[in-house]
Amino acid sequence: MVTNRTFTMLKPDSVEKGHIGSILEKITASGFRIVAMKITQMTKADAEAFYEIHKERPFFGELVEYMTRGPIVAAILEKENAVEDFRTLVGATNPEEAAEGTIRKLYAASIGENAVHGSDSNDNAAIECAFHFSGREQF
Ligand code: UDP
Ligand code: MG
Repeated sequence: MVTNRTFTMLKPDSVEKGHIGSILEKITASGFRIVAMKITQMTKADAEAFYEIHKERPFFGELVEYMTRGPIVAAILEKENAVEDFRTLVGATNPEEAAEGTIRKLYAASIGENAVHGSDSNDNAAIECAFHFSGREQF
């Protein structure tokens, strides 16, 4: 089951611009089932922990600032091959390199403010789902 699930966040820029509905529509139209979802806001400690892997990168401070500046929509998505298929739907980190029709091509402003998160492996998907949702919140 876990291998068929991935974790996503509609990042603060998506919420600010009113893109929640359009992005969720694209996700469900692409065959993903939403099995957990909430609107929430990460604290500085949350964002630092979630993105710990990037803590030595030059953009880390900006990333934490961006991800904590307003609410996000956190969700767990289920589909065959969820992690890989969702990364394809999301598109490249830099929207200038993202393929036509991808969420980042459509909605991301820059490599920093890039609209959505998608887990990069099954192991990280499991960690990230558990970071934001208890078992009782996953359906
Ligand atoms: N990021 C950034 N500058 C960069 C690379 C990444 O601000 O040069 C931000 C961006 O919001 C990205 C996040 O850090 O989504 C995590 O980076 P990662 O390389 O994991 O990209 P992703 O997996 O989100 O495509
Ligand atoms: Mg990543």
